[in-house]
Amino acid sequence: MSNKASEQTYWLGIDLGGTKILAEVYDQDFNLIGSTKRKTKAELGQEAGIARLLKTAHDALDDAGISKDNLSGVGIGCPGVLNLQTGVLVKAGNIGWYDVAIKKMLEKEFGVPAAVANDVDAGTFGEYMNGAGKGASTVFGIFPGTGIGGALVYQGDIFRGSKWTCMEIGHFQVVPNGAQCGCGRKGCLESVAGRLAIATAASAAVIRGQAPWLSENVGSDPARIKSGALASAVENGDKVIEQIIIDACTALGQALGGVVNLLAPEIMVIGGGLAEAMPALYKKHVEDAMQPKIMDALQGSCKIEIAKLGDHATALGAAAWVRKQETK
Ligand SMILES: [Zn+2]
Repeated sequence: MSNKASEQTYWLGIDLGGTKILAEVYDQDFNLIGSTKRKTKAELGQEAGIARLLKTAHDALDDAGISKDNLSGVGIGCPGVLNLQTGVLVKAGNIGWYDVAIKKMLEKEFGVPAAVANDVDAGTFGEYMNGAGKGASTVFGIFPGTGIGGALVYQGDIFRGSKWTCMEIGHFQVVPNGAQCGCGRKGCLESVAGRLAIATAASAAVIRGQAPWLSENVGSDPARIKSGALASAVENGDKVIEQIIIDACTALGQALGGVVNLLAPEIMVIGGGLAEAMPALYKKHVEDAMQPKIMDALQGSCKIEIAKLGDHATALGAAAWVRKQETK
């Protein structure tokens, strides 16, 4: 590279999550040069939460050995409802924050431009810039967890609604009049293939005596049946658990076949704890269910990849997103 050291730029990316705040400093080549993680502690309230967020961000700069004068921009990926025109976090129910002018606040604190994105949008943008979607022009990201988030990077930009985020694939109805979903509607993809649906079905299998490994090592409490426990149960021969995962992958794949017909992305990135704990199982069964749903003209146009950035995706994506705004 011909860049002189003095031309190096630094970008701060923040992942504001329900349980943790992660702040990471990247250089212009996406090398991670400093980071800090702290629990969100939603129970302390909004004001204390904002102070924790700012402290975490400053600590990441310290860890990187730079001051805010060296910084070119700060990006943040947030949960909840965001007004993307004003950079206001309108409502994040899971952490109890309301009407936080987060863009303005970060710009004042660090004296540099800030950009606000939805957390799934930022995660998908991270995978597009430096992960499983690198080099593609259009990438769809899906992150099955407790909820199922979706996002589209379309020719280098995060695809959004006129004011709000979009691509809420978790709330595609896949079962007419099906199980109750957290959104108040019925039969959404999330109610069939989300972690809660999987953990509930796995719990029933334990109670029925069909999952000996899970029964012996984890028990029947759905709150304890997390991604790692499910992956271990499958590895250790609990066939009924494996089938529950395959059924969830099948529902995901069928919905994603429709996404290919609608948007024709080059790469479909599947991320989140479940897929990252069982990458081979997710890749195979999502693909098997997706292919028959894709119309002939688009067959072979879209590849499935498992996310590569893990917990870094949202912070890296947020840093990359503000950098894109400022270096156009
Ligand atoms: Zn729903």
